[in-house]
Amino acid sequence: MNYDVIVIGAGSMGMAAGYFLAKSGKKTLLLDSFSPPHDKGSHHGETRIIRYAYGEGEEYVPFVLRAKELWAELEQLSGKQLFMPTGVLNVGVKQSDFIQNTIKSSEKYSLPLEVLNAKEIQKRWQGITLSDDYIGSFEPTSGVLKCEECINAYQELAEQHGATILSNRRVKEINIQNDKVTIKTSNQTFNANSLVISAGAWTKDLLKMLDLDAPLTPVRKTFAWYEANEQMYSQNHFPAFAFETPQGIYYGFPSIDGVGLKLGRHDGGETVHPVMPLFPYGESDDKDLRQFLTQFMPNVEKLKYGKTCMYTLTPDEKFIIDLHPRYTNVAIAAGFSGHGFKFSSAVGQALSNLILTGKNDIDISQFSFRRF
Ligand SMILES: Cc1cc2nc3c(=O)[nH]c(=O)nc-3n(C[C@H](O)[C@H](O)[C@H](O)COP(=O)(O)OP(=O)(O)OC[C@H]3O[C@@H](n4cnc5c(N)ncnc54)[C@H](O)[C@@H]3O)c2cc1C
Repeated sequence: MNYDVIVIGAGSMGMAAGYFLAKSGKKTLLLDSFSPPHDKGSHHGETRIIRYAYGEGEEYVPFVLRAKELWAELEQLSGKQLFMPTGVLNVGVKQSDFIQNTIKSSEKYSLPLEVLNAKEIQKRWQGITLSDDYIGSFEPTSGVLKCEECINAYQELAEQHGATILSNRRVKEINIQNDKVTIKTSNQTFNANSLVISAGAWTKDLLKMLDLDAPLTPVRKTFAWYEANEQMYSQNHFPAFAFETPQGIYYGFPSIDGVGLKLGRHDGGETVHPVMPLFPYGESDDKDLRQFLTQFMPNVEKLKYGKTCMYTLTPDEKFIIDLHPRYTNVAIAAGFSGHGFKFSSAVGQALSNLILTGKNDIDISQFSFRRF
């Protein structure tokens, strides 16, 4: 079967790319090992934080503002509420690069941001306990994306524009000869003019098939939901948050629709290979999250349940969004290092632009493969 473009991996980035490619009139095929959205990769767990005054560096801001516009467009086209404007509170010591970067981003791009001391934070959100050496930056316009629903929405629209999405088709072989792409699953062969590789934690193995050794490290991550007083921690009273502490970087979500407060740890985690099942959420994972709660949110109650997921890290924790250095008809999106979901609408558009024109309208050179 012949297509204009094949997308390997119909997860966060791939499903969005499939939509933009199909919308532009390309005959598009998306292949996935599972049936997205699913809980085997990096996109499950109901919620993802989206923030614009970017702690990882102001250079991300134009790209995340494009993502914001595209999420609003997706809400309008799908008729679904995908974004919840809870606001996001970042907490750290005053010298923290992350906090200082949020302030610099807000100044440069005129983004609303309130800088608060520990007393002001505790007065506003009684569910938080902080010592005086912490400060916070609160971005009221940011919030939470419903991640699986975003993927479902892109899937529906991609199909409306004629894309074919085949689930439970793991790609086992990629060959490129004279600019023609041949893809094999266990019992089917597909041909195309161009290829997008957006296979999350599995991307390293696929890129090896195209002689590329990508510095990508899949890591096991855990997160959990806790019973919490709704008066204190519901989405009507409490923001999404990220705390930089001496023990680690923790992030979380208010109790949304009564499901409980959700908490995860951003740094650390064991290196894994995604073909092996992840070690399930266990006692030591809970102990780590509980010590954060004891110190900073002591009113949060019992563990409800925990889950595991994967990050795919690059050495500098910046993404890879680029054409293959040798094959100009192959676009790659990988290494989202635990902060990529919020960008996935803009990444999908960028991948489509790379395939259609070889470049993106917003500068993505910081995500080039050649930097390694
Ligand atoms: C616990 C957790 C919390 C996070 N929190 C945030 C947050 O708050 N904000 C934020 O912005 N980001 C967050 N992230 C990061 C974000 O979710 C990821 O960066 C993003 O989901 C990565 O998208 P992806 O498309 O690369 O991978 P995925 O969404 O996992 O998609 C990859 C797809 O490729 C498929 N695939 C793999 N190999 C093959 C193959 N051989 N053949 C066919 N298909 C294949 C997989 O089945 C999968 O569906 C978080 C991540 C985790 C794990």
